[in-house]
Amino acid sequence: MGLVVGLEEKLPSGFLLTKVEKLAGYMRKNSLWPATFGLACCAIEMMAAGAGRYDLARFGMEVFRASPRQADLMIVAGRVSNKMAPVVRQIYDQMAAPKWTIAMGACASSGGMFNNYAIVQGVDHIIPVDIYLPGCPPRPEMLMDAILKLHEQIGNEKLGPNRERIIKEVEAAALAAKPTHQLKGLLT
Ligand code: SF4
Repeated sequence: MGLVVGLEEKLPSGFLLTKVEKLAGYMRKNSLWPATFGLACCAIEMMAAGAGRYDLARFGMEVFRASPRQADLMIVAGRVSNKMAPVVRQIYDQMAAPKWTIAMGACASSGGMFNNYAIVQGVDHIIPVDIYLPGCPPRPEMLMDAILKLHEQIGNEKLGPNRERIIKEVEAAALAAKPTHQLKGLLT
């Protein structure tokens, strides 16, 4: 008869095995803290998602942080003007690593209906994006669905140098993309 104590008593097979990577992913995905900022109409839906009716607190996300240094999730909610682009990048750079980004809505993902010189045609031209959320505006339910999909992604994410390599690849792809002033869409 083996010695049975604590948690082992509750488990049918007597012991629990996992990988450090899985354990870190589990803890990270359940403690995401978003940065507090919004750029346009999509931000209203983001605020609704954080309020009582939708209650993001259920997912360990009740604290939208006022300082980027205490945040690890950037929800880009709204169109990004060329004037705001360096500000968005600075907030991203100041956030604690590891960090993740959701491009919320058509404008943040691709420029949306604003196919003009003033708007960045997709925020992935300035920061790496983990999840693209379509819609104009996406409803709070859609944002919550995107957050849960991001949870899955974080739960299976690589650690250390592997994660850094992935970020470098995404950043290199963004830098290699065509400059926004050369992009042509349906209206040009
Ligand atoms: S996607 Fe629609 S709702 Fe969101 S910022 Fe653009 S115009 Fe506004």
